[in-house]
Amino acid sequence: MINPFENALLQLSRANAVKSFPVELIERLKVPNREIRVSIPVRMDDGTLRIFEGYRVEHNNARGPYKGGIRYHQDTDINEVKALALWMTMKCAVANIPMGGGKGGVTVNPKTLSKGELERLSRGWVRALSEILGPRKDVPAPDVNTTPEIMDWMSDEFGKITGDTSGAMITGKPLANGGSEGRGTATAQGGFFVFSALREKLGLPESCRVVVQGFGNAGDHAADLWTKAGHKVIAVSDSKGAIVREEGLDIDAVTAHKKATGSVTGMEGTRTISNEELLALECDLLIPAALENQIRADNVATIRAKVIMELANGPTTPEADDALFARGVHVVPDILFNSGGVTVSTFEWEQNLKGEHWTEAEVFDKLKTMLEREANNIYDTAQMFHTDLRRAAFITALGRLEEAMKS
Ligand code: NAD
Repeated sequence: MINPFENALLQLSRANAVKSFPVELIERLKVPNREIRVSIPVRMDDGTLRIFEGYRVEHNNARGPYKGGIRYHQDTDINEVKALALWMTMKCAVANIPMGGGKGGVTVNPKTLSKGELERLSRGWVRALSEILGPRKDVPAPDVNTTPEIMDWMSDEFGKITGDTSGAMITGKPLANGGSEGRGTATAQGGFFVFSALREKLGLPESCRVVVQGFGNAGDHAADLWTKAGHKVIAVSDSKGAIVREEGLDIDAVTAHKKATGSVTGMEGTRTISNEELLALECDLLIPAALENQIRADNVATIRAKVIMELANGPTTPEADDALFARGVHVVPDILFNSGGVTVSTFEWEQNLKGEHWTEAEVFDKLKTMLEREANNIYDTAQMFHTDLRRAAFITALGRLEEAMKS
């Protein structure tokens, strides 16, 4: 099994090999400031007690409070959370927001829990970790399988324990309870701003054939946004499989089909294929938006996309990065391409602290300005160092972390 934390460390040292940073900085970033495992007892609906394993990794807070989502997944473990936390440190530095990197998780398949059990588990996670959480300390958010409703339960639990009802301890909340306009689509929207800034430079046509792996919060909004902008989304997938239609998919119809049947697969007028086959489709742009380690040494030769833009965290392994770079396939890295999520989360935190509510136009105007600037900056850095965009993004982040940690 590929250990995502080892891959994250490899990415760090590979960037440092292109532009050398102080040894002490790199050594500090190789280990999280703190990693915490907790047991969360939950009374199940049938009266039995189940103990779940939960995590919070606080990687680095030199640039601000720890920030990062909470993942509920049956395969989540401490190494995955450590990798995600390190990437959050890098991502916040790339986006140039005043946040550090953290991440949380619970090893659980939430689809096997009732709503009540899910609520008790979520409140239990906050109870177990309330001492380290807080608006100026550590600010979680949603990730895979966690929703605005779960953020709301967590925010409520934190308020009950600490008396802090500002809502600023967690982001991704529902609009009615302190959420930000635009947070739901922010990850995909941020990706779209990066895509628009780099499309011509990366040699992509005005109208692209797009493939999206993963049809969750990040992926379904991406499919929708690219379609509305005049591109053709020819295939999408979820954990059960993929669908393809060469003439382009009707994304509203796919969303309705998924809502009705629980999966994108089997939709009328489309061909159902596997996720491996989806990754190998010929297209201009492949957007992985599911989980890590999807494009690896063993399947990279099958990839026929011209450009890959990572909406998921860690979908491409370092070996695959090298093979793609050698073939001239650009990979726009996660720490730039999906940074719209944490950027709008930071806007939400700022609005909560100031007691403000910004319009969607204000949110997206700020996001666009920030991400276009950073996308161009990272592209220029890659050109300057004759390297790939991932190393260039790490170099940008490391420069900012060096400044913060020096002072
Ligand atoms: P989600 O739970 O809403 O959706 C995940 C999707 O991936 C689902 O459609 C699921 O069926 C699918 N999936 C799971 N396993 C799969 C597999 N093996 N093959 C294909 N599809 C599979 O989660 P999300 O919030 O959309 O997150 C997806 C990715 O984007 C994660 O890597 C996450 O860390 C990253 N991300 C999310 C945000 C955010 O704001 N939600 C921000 C930054 C990065």
